[in-house]
Amino acid sequence: MEKRDYDAVVVGAGPNGLAAAITLQRAGLSVWLAESKPEIGGGMRTAELTLPGFKHDVCSAVVPMAVSSPFFRTLPLGDFGLEYVYPEIEAAHPFDDGTAALLLRSLEKTASLLGADEKNYAGLLGPVEKYWTNIEKDVLGPLHIPEQPVDLIKFGLKALPSAIHTAKKFSTNHAKGLWAGMAAHSIQPLSNIATSAIALVLMTAGHKYGWPVAKGGSGSITKALGNYFISLGGTIETNFYVKSLDQLPSSHAVLFDITPKQLLKIAGHKFSSLYSSQLNRYRYGAGVFKVDWALDKPAPFIAEEACRAGTVHIGNTLEEIVEHEKIIWQNKVTDKPFVLFAQQTVCDPSRAPEGKHTAWAYCHVPNGYDKDMTAVIESQVERFAPGFKERILARHTLSPLQIEEYNNNYVGGDINGGVIDIRQLFTRPALRWSPYRTSAKGLYICSSSTPPGGGVHGLCGYHAAKRTLKDIFKTEL
Ligand SMILES: Cc1cc2nc3c(=O)[nH]c(=O)nc-3n(C[C@H](O)[C@H](O)[C@H](O)COP(=O)(O)OP(=O)(O)OC[C@H]3O[C@@H](n4cnc5c(N)ncnc54)[C@H](O)[C@@H]3O)c2cc1C
Repeated sequence: MEKRDYDAVVVGAGPNGLAAAITLQRAGLSVWLAESKPEIGGGMRTAELTLPGFKHDVCSAVVPMAVSSPFFRTLPLGDFGLEYVYPEIEAAHPFDDGTAALLLRSLEKTASLLGADEKNYAGLLGPVEKYWTNIEKDVLGPLHIPEQPVDLIKFGLKALPSAIHTAKKFSTNHAKGLWAGMAAHSIQPLSNIATSAIALVLMTAGHKYGWPVAKGGSGSITKALGNYFISLGGTIETNFYVKSLDQLPSSHAVLFDITPKQLLKIAGHKFSSLYSSQLNRYRYGAGVFKVDWALDKPAPFIAEEACRAGTVHIGNTLEEIVEHEKIIWQNKVTDKPFVLFAQQTVCDPSRAPEGKHTAWAYCHVPNGYDKDMTAVIESQVERFAPGFKERILARHTLSPLQIEEYNNNYVGGDINGGVIDIRQLFTRPALRWSPYRTSAKGLYICSSSTPPGGGVHGLCGYHAAKRTLKDIFKTEL
């Protein structure tokens, strides 16, 4: 091959950019990784957003997809300082009557706490937990000929129905609410086909691997990935905002950890008109409004179990969650949104000064929504944890547009790099033989706008790097 400055360049150092860079460098190539911000990490950064000594996760906080990632699991991240810490209860889902449904590591215990729905829960999740290791690589990657087609078909039959349809298997409010909260991570109307998929994946990850946080903050995952990459001989350039291909050192391949909107600006002139029009038609999803709190004491949930959970899904019944997740697509919000609430100090006291606490929450809102949701979110928490507001020492908020300003991958506050519905699940960002290849030779996309989509797992980057190795460097992993 002709001599170049580097074998490969990666633009953007989020989990996927880092994963791509590591995969290529591990394969013996020389890789240059550019990041626009002073610090690498993308959606995995930790900062004192409120008061000195309170370490907040600016974006991702709870990382079941990181600990269960078939790619991250192959990396020696523990040797580079990463420690996952686990709450006693993975997730709690409180109700107005003061009770809560729980997601626990034990599937059997989770099921048994659901009373009349014990068998229904075990029948839905039990088989998936058993065959998950056979199909995880197929589910969490691009479309391809599966290694275990029978198990994959069984999973597909459970994953394809809408979450509302699957909820009909349950008779109790507890099971229905717990299920709806999990499915609402899809950030779509729960009547959409395949909204059961995300609930199955997250609940199975909970049973098999847990829902941990990274000790010290999500920035610890960044540190471990970055230092591992450097230990392999990789080069990182921060404060390097890529606006044009001309700024980049010469290489045989460039991988972009950015979404179609920015990719078109940087490299659109290299693409075929068909590919450009496909990227132009790419659909972004709803946004989020986020709040971080420094707390004097933890949130006093009436349901005592919720005080011991790392994540609390605040949304009461299936019906309330369904309503909010539907209405945001009509450019509106309800005054009872589904709130994803995390309390890192339940298992990681290092996040706050002694005896103090942190909490993190967001709710889904229309893309680019410009109204302040702080009071609505706090009232939702107060509804299940009366006295919460009195415990707030300081808060920091991020509206959808501020989230985009912080990281332009989050277009209009869309944290998944584009809607993850059935039409964009495996074909994101465009319908192509390989979704990671652009129409220009040597240019690839590796962000969450490719399969399997949003979340801290690095799998988009890993698969894009595998594609690059095969196409350009004639190497199979
Ligand atoms: C508020 C919020 C909460 C979330 N909560 C969770 C959670 O609890 N658990 C979870 O698993 N996931 C969560 N996510 C989602 C997760 O953070 C993202 O899906 C994930 O970070 C996407 O990774 P990525 O590598 O594709 O992109 P990003 O993490 O967005 O990284 C892209 C990087 O590229 C850089 N960049 C962009 N443009 C350029 C350019 N032109 N030149 C150079 N550099 C550039 C950016 O600065 C950034 O560092 C959350 C996200 C947000 C915003």
